Amino acid sequence: MIDLVIAGLGNIGLPFVDFVSRIPGVRSVVLVDPDAFTENNVSCQMVALSDVGCPKVDVAAARMAEANPALRIETLRCRLEHVPRCLYRGRVIASCLDSRFARASLSDIAWTVGAPLWLDAGVRPEGRLARASAAFPSHAKAAGICCGWSPEDWNLAAREYSCAGAFEGAPSRSPAFLGAMAAAVMAHRLDCFIANDLPPSADARSWVVSLDAHRSWTTSIRRSSDCRCKHQSWTIEPLGHSAETCKLSDLTEAGLLAVPGMPVTRALRCDCGSVRGSFHIAARLPENLVHCDSCGGKMSSGALDLFDEIDLSALEDFGPEVPALALADLGVSNGDIIRLGKRHFEVGVSVLFQEGRV
Ligand SMILES: [Zn+2]
Ligand SMILES: [Zn+2]
Repeated sequence: MIDLVIAGLGNIGLPFVDFVSRIPGVRSVVLVDPDAFTENNVSCQMVALSDVGCPKVDVAAARMAEANPALRIETLRCRLEHVPRCLYRGRVIASCLDSRFARASLSDIAWTVGAPLWLDAGVRPEGRLARASAAFPSHAKAAGICCGWSPEDWNLAAREYSCAGAFEGAPSRSPAFLGAMAAAVMAHRLDCFIANDLPPSADARSWVVSLDAHRSWTTSIRRSSDCRCKHQSWTIEPLGHSAETCKLSDLTEAGLLAVPGMPVTRALRCDCGSVRGSFHIAARLPENLVHCDSCGGKMSSGALDLFDEIDLSALEDFGPEVPALALADLGVSNGDIIRLGKRHFEVGVSVLFQEGRV
């Protein structure tokens, strides 16, 4: 039995969840997507008009539960980098994303946690091309599809990323049938993996189908030393404390604290000129903190307000109250992986699939 994370629930992700709920051997699925369906989605995704306005994760979870009531399903309506990273541990990760930047982010996560299998699917409307790829991050010297990217691919990935950290991948106007084709090829690879028919290898592999050319072919990608992905795998130790009980002052000996992929913001700014001090993970600010008291607008952080690392030896410099803050006060969740000095730790215990939330 395998456990799965599916990131992205659009043109490819939605048909993929329909296929997955009918593949024996899948025990649990975590669905990740920050968006809700819009009217534009109906013409190119397998979604009904009645789903417009609904969070994608909710629509997908309902469909999976109807098809397979035994499946354990968890939904996270957030961006894939903001998911507590331990949730990806030990799971097959399926990427149904529409931007190179998001793919590179998810690939990075898959390598850090040593995922047993990373699946990725994509479509190209020209030539009616559908592709699914498989990589094995837990394998030594494993390649990802990023290892086959050209400098132009990386430039496009960089362009998709704005300072605010938002993806700006153009919504692909691929026909629904093409997304379903890519999803079907990926579902087949998953089925093979469960049947031990897709042995782990250092090379990544892609299966491509061209509907226009009536052709299909496979390619293999070697690990490239020019690849800009780090392909780092972490040794993750238990922190032994929950986010609520661990105070920053307990950690000072470590020197530096980071929550990888989630910078801490020191200030929030509004277009009206208001500025408010802050000491919180920017991606997880509660509503009351982003609400501007002067004008009612929405506050956000500038690039210079964001810190990837916190110097634990100088906590008082951030404010007299900071040393007594718990990790949870910064927005750290149980299940997050934090870096202390050079070591990585899992905070608390995983809260998923407990408390009858399935
Ligand atoms: Zn690579
Ligand atoms: Zn304001």
